[in-house]
Amino acid sequence: MDKPIQALVLHRIRYGETSLILKLFTEKYGLISGMLKGAMNSKKWIPESGAIIQTVPIRRREEGMYTLGSTEYEYHYGFTNSLMKSAIRDSALELSLAVLHEEDPHTELYTLFGKFLHNLEQCSEPAALFSLWLFILRFGDALGVSVERTGCVICGEPFLEGGELLPEQGGFSCGNCRPKKSPLFSREVISLLATGKPSPDILIPTLLPRERYGITLLLIENLRSHFSFHREIHSLDFLKEIL
Ligand SMILES: [Zn+2]
Repeated sequence: MDKPIQALVLHRIRYGETSLILKLFTEKYGLISGMLKGAMNSKKWIPESGAIIQTVPIRRREEGMYTLGSTEYEYHYGFTNSLMKSAIRDSALELSLAVLHEEDPHTELYTLFGKFLHNLEQCSEPAALFSLWLFILRFGDALGVSVERTGCVICGEPFLEGGELLPEQGGFSCGNCRPKKSPLFSREVISLLATGKPSPDILIPTLLPRERYGITLLLIENLRSHFSFHREIHSLDFLKEIL
C-alpha cells in the first residue's frame, strides 16, 4: 500500500453525479490531476480549492489522470471573513494553473504555496494584496524568471522617481531611462517589492484602487510574457471590484 502524500487543491471540477476531478499541487509530483470517486456523497467533507489534503494517487500507466485513494482532510486555509483574501487566494491558484502544465516535482514551489497561504491567513487586509504581489514575484523566481528590483536594469541607478517594469529586460528601468513614459511603479512601491519596506499596512492604503489593480496586473503580465499563457485569470475581475 502506498503512503499518503500531502497535496494542495488548486481547483476542482464536478465529474458525473458524484465524483470530482481535482487539480492538485503536490510536493512529490508537482501538478497532477486526480479523480476522487464518490466525493459528492461525503457527508463530512468535500475538498475545496485552497485545502490541504492527504491522498494516495494511483495510476496504472506512466501518464494521465490518477485515481485518488484514501483521501483525508488535513487543513483548510480559511478566509470566510474576508472576500479580499479569498479573491487573492483564488487569483494566485488560477495563475498557477495557467502557468504550470506538466507533472514536475518542485519543492521550492510547494513551500512557496504554503508560505503564501499561511501568510494570507495571518496578515491584515492591506498586506493581503502585498502577499499576492510577493507570491507572483517569488513564483517567477522559482521558475527562473526573476524580476530585478534593486536597481535600474539599464543604468543600474536606484529608483529615485519610480520605474517601469520591462519584462524583456527582466526588471525595472528608472525614470531617466524611459523618460517618455510616466513610471507606473512609484519608488515606494518598488522598494516595498524589493525589501518589504515601507510597511504594506502603511503604503497600500495610500494607493488608489486602480493603482493597486494596475500593479497586480503588470506583475501578472510580466509572467504572461515569459510563459505565454492565454488563459484569463477570472478571479481578478472580482478582485478588481473589491480593491
Ligand atoms: Zn536607468
